[in-house]
Amino acid sequence: MQLDLPLHLNPPPAPIPTLPLKIPPPDIPAIDWEKIAKDLLIHAGQPALADRLKVRWNPQMRSTAGTAQFATSLITLNPRLLLFGTAEVDRTLRHELAHLLAQIRAGRRRIRPHGPEWRQACVDLGIPNESRCHHLSLPTRIIARRHFYRCQNCLGIISRVRPLKNKSACLRCCRLLNSGRYDDRFRYRKFSPT
Ligand SMILES: [Zn+2]
Ligand SMILES: [Zn+2]
Repeated sequence: MQLDLPLHLNPPPAPIPTLPLKIPPPDIPAIDWEKIAKDLLIHAGQPALADRLKVRWNPQMRSTAGTAQFATSLITLNPRLLLFGTAEVDRTLRHELAHLLAQIRAGRRRIRPHGPEWRQACVDLGIPNESRCHHLSLPTRIIARRHFYRCQNCLGIISRVRPLKNKSACLRCCRLLNSGRYDDRFRYRKFSPT
């Protein structure tokens, strides 16, 4: 259930999202995508699946936007999605979530990855016109212009046009675990998504 262009050449793939090259995308705050996904599942009447669900970033992914693994209730997202803005992360998350929702509804019955059950799940998750594949196509110079940092505690990711000059820690973790004060355990560390 992975989204990868070479696997789906027919019908034609969804248009590649265009990136305004002259205007860098806004910096993306560390959003709790797992919480958003769990809420969507609860809303769709699947609290047990919501409970098991994990959403993770995988910096090793290249052109694949995201994957969904039903056996482990795991959704994996490509951090490069951040370059397209939060709307693209959100859409990919719902696309992958629809795979899990469709399968849990189908029970033991085998369903096609992007068949009618998945399309219905997309409707229920608020993306009625979702196409069955999309992929990431980013000029490397765009990636080279971005700087990615990860909180060592919650693994939340931020992306920046300019590198962080000073030590910076994850606000969410500092608030939750250290009364909002800076703590080196939650310092953002640089990583490369390529
Ligand atoms: Zn899919
Ligand atoms: Zn954190």
